[in-house]
Amino acid sequence: MGGGPGGYTAAFRAADLGKQVTLVERYPVLGGVCLNVGCIPSKTLLHVASVLNEAHELIPAGVKFTPPEVNLDELRAWKNKVSSQLNSGLAALAKQRNVTVVTGTAQFVSDHAVQVGEDTIEFEQAIIAVGSQPVKIPSFPNDDPRLMDSTDALDLADIPKKLLIVGGGIIGLEMATVYHALGSEITIVEMQDQIIPGCDKDLVRPLLQKIKGEYANIFVETRVQSIEALSDGLKVSFDGKTAPEFDLFDKVLVAVGRSPNGHKIAADKAGVNVDERGFIAVDKQQRTNVPHIFAIGDVVGNPMLAHKATHEGKLAAEVIAGHDVTWQALTIPSVAYTDPEIAWMGLTENAAKAQGIEYDKAAFPWAASGRSLSIGRKEGITKLLTDKKTGRILGAGIVGTHAGDLIAEAVLALEMGANAEDLALTIHAHPTLAETLGLSAEMIDGTITDLFVKKR
Ligand code: FAD
Ligand code: NAD
Repeated sequence: MGGGPGGYTAAFRAADLGKQVTLVERYPVLGGVCLNVGCIPSKTLLHVASVLNEAHELIPAGVKFTPPEVNLDELRAWKNKVSSQLNSGLAALAKQRNVTVVTGTAQFVSDHAVQVGEDTIEFEQAIIAVGSQPVKIPSFPNDDPRLMDSTDALDLADIPKKLLIVGGGIIGLEMATVYHALGSEITIVEMQDQIIPGCDKDLVRPLLQKIKGEYANIFVETRVQSIEALSDGLKVSFDGKTAPEFDLFDKVLVAVGRSPNGHKIAADKAGVNVDERGFIAVDKQQRTNVPHIFAIGDVVGNPMLAHKATHEGKLAAEVIAGHDVTWQALTIPSVAYTDPEIAWMGLTENAAKAQGIEYDKAAFPWAASGRSLSIGRKEGITKLLTDKKTGRILGAGIVGTHAGDLIAEAVLALEMGANAEDLALTIHAHPTLAETLGLSAEMIDGTITDLFVKKR
């Protein structure tokens, strides 16, 4: 049930393992939130933002372009084409595997059948992969088209002059990056004491420094009290130390999290437990409380990430096919595709402190990286945490251009049980941004020559 990254991956893996598979998706295309209104369209637009920004960043190098002209209709069509290419690819992959794709909304009618429109589909095992949807704040004027969720924002109806983003999480910051590059004046309001609250402060700081100079306002520890729809804009009143009492915006994007769709599938008819928020609890094999019904992806809990959903999808399919496998991933990496990007994996420093774990830490400054300077971006940091006793890698965080790609090496190192010396002795090509991970390991290993570190 559900053709997002969790559902289609589970379907394809189960078919490859010899199962007869039916995949029910309520929309006429596969790919779910990620491919249609999430990861892919946002990254397509972030690429545009990045090229626009890079062109501007060449001014100090003596290279000046004429100001860009953005044709919104063409940009939207280009973004949609990226998703539709992937939609067609998934449809072809389903066909090649003889997966029957049914378009419609599935609801349980018993623990061995779902109803889709007029049809009843019986099953031996089921995988619930129905995902999540944006959280709405009921007191806001949600029917006003000037109040957007992430799907509306990705639709690029226009470029608002003044845009307020409620929620300084990943969606808020990524969409701020896009709309700022396209010309909007951005204000962000976040109720916690920092933007991207799940991430260590030192990793967020370089992003914050950059956008502080670019955005109109970033209000933390601030709540939106009310939003009033007026003819000349949305009047927003704030409750926070540094925010004004109210301000008028052309549009408001609400990005305050996503809620799981567990309550929308008549789960009780199958006896599947759903908690009050809509999450479905599963064991290490993705089994719900009903042993032949599994659940994966956003509907089973945080982090709500596509790469978590796909791995859970494979696991559920393999368990159904009789393999003796369980969830054993040591970490699920997180990436904010902002500018600079922020990526982290394993233990954060906040968590290490909270849990009283003794660690060694290195933070290699990108200002000492030749590659970083050559691309005009020296604000990055590569941070490594290792176990004080064993030297094993516990966690890593990177802020800087391409951090999302660079974190993969740290994830592999953690999964392979590597220590700082293993990373330090791994020869990284020069000059690359990937070197910074090796250099941070050299800092812990005491062998670094690219920096002068006083002996303690
Ligand atoms: P979904 O992708 O939500 O898919 C569920 C599918 O089930 C949907 O297609 C839905 O139509 C269908 N469905 C629901 N109910 C029924 C029903 N009753 N019957 C039939 N079908 C049903 N994650 C990342 O890892 N990286 C990113 O860069 C990233 N960017 C994002 C950007 C945005 C703007 C958003 C909103 C999300 C982003 N995410 C990102 C999160 C990612 O999209 C989700 O974690 C991922 O899509 C979850 O996959 P899923 O298969 O669990 O659910
Ligand atoms: P989020 O939980 O990442 O951020 C929401 C933010 O809004 C939080 O910082 C929270 O403190 C704040 N907030 C909540 N209520 C508020 C209020 N009333 N006023 C002000 N601030 C408030 O959620 P999101 O950004 O909406 O993203 C949803 C999900 O999608 C996340 O789980 C995320 O993992 C996923 N996602 C991932 C990526 C990526 O991997 N690059 C990109 C986009 C979305």
